Amino acid sequence: MIEPPVKVNASTDDVIAELKRRPAFVMVSHVKPDGDTLGAGLALGIALKRLGKRVHYFQQDAVPRNLRFLPDAEHVSREIPADLPADALWVFGDMSDMARAGEFLPDIDRENVLNIDHHLGNSRFGAFNYVLETECSTGTCVMRLLRALGVAIDRDIATCILTTIMTDTGGFMHSNTTPDVLHLSAELIAAGADKEEITEQIFANKRFAAVRLLGRALEKAKLERDGRYCWSFVDDEMLRVSGADGEDTEEIIGHLRSIEGVEAAALFKSYDGEIRVSLRSSGRVNVQAAAARLGGGGHFRASGLTYEGSLAQAVADVEKALVAEGL
Ligand code: AMP
Ligand code: MN
Ligand code: MN
Repeated sequence: MIEPPVKVNASTDDVIAELKRRPAFVMVSHVKPDGDTLGAGLALGIALKRLGKRVHYFQQDAVPRNLRFLPDAEHVSREIPADLPADALWVFGDMSDMARAGEFLPDIDRENVLNIDHHLGNSRFGAFNYVLETECSTGTCVMRLLRALGVAIDRDIATCILTTIMTDTGGFMHSNTTPDVLHLSAELIAAGADKEEITEQIFANKRFAAVRLLGRALEKAKLERDGRYCWSFVDDEMLRVSGADGEDTEEIIGHLRSIEGVEAAALFKSYDGEIRVSLRSSGRVNVQAAAARLGGGGHFRASGLTYEGSLAQAVADVEKALVAEGL
């Protein structure tokens, strides 16, 4: 059998040619979805539908409460239609590896995979890999494609793309908030993106249970290595007594990172039978490299991993990995 060509680094033109050629698409977002993976997939999906294409949205986990306002979010599911054409293109957004899509995908031929992402160390798992590490979000990678496709940026598409930006820049606070990002955001707001709604949903819509959980996690926080490292954890019991769930843990890590003098922060999420670790850096320590030592990934200042073992082992190994990266 002749191997299909692999575009390790596909150009915008390569991707556009493929989008035009294919009749049907499945937009795939990662497990524990955030506003970038979902917003990027919805923006491209909505645009492709406008061009007359057939589009489905696949996501293993349910749409988080705070992202249900996104246009087309109601069409996101774990179902793959039985009559999906064999040459449908599977578009993976915001994941450094295909495994981040979860366990419910059917077997997909590599020739049918487009990988759009902005993570460091993306494994180039697609036949077409559109990986732009300097972009602030996967949504802004998609925006480049939409411009090249010549699709009108309407209110719905603008809302999806602005959501990806506001999610991954932490509401324009992180170091990836460049002048270009602000110019594009202005353009999206002018096109009708509902900035008020996005701000409210993503940053100001916490459940009381989340605030109670935050209090517990902050109480347990440890400040180590002369105040350069702060870590804490959330376990099943803390979720139970707070009345919270996994979606309520999002903001905790930012508080740990924001402490004066802290260069790296870690949050150990030990519930639902697994340990997931979130890492954040203030800019000196590369937490993507630290996570990669333990099988995870992400960005220089924000990364994550799933740990096989006990919480105590996770705490010890993550500190070791951070120290190896200069903490
Ligand atoms: P989080 O702490 O879950 O917000 O994730 C921060 C960053 O790390 C995101 O860019 C994720 O894509 C990445 N990340 C989180 N968990 C993993 C994992 N298990 N494997 C690879 N990358 C991850
Ligand atoms: Mn993401
Ligand atoms: Mn992202």
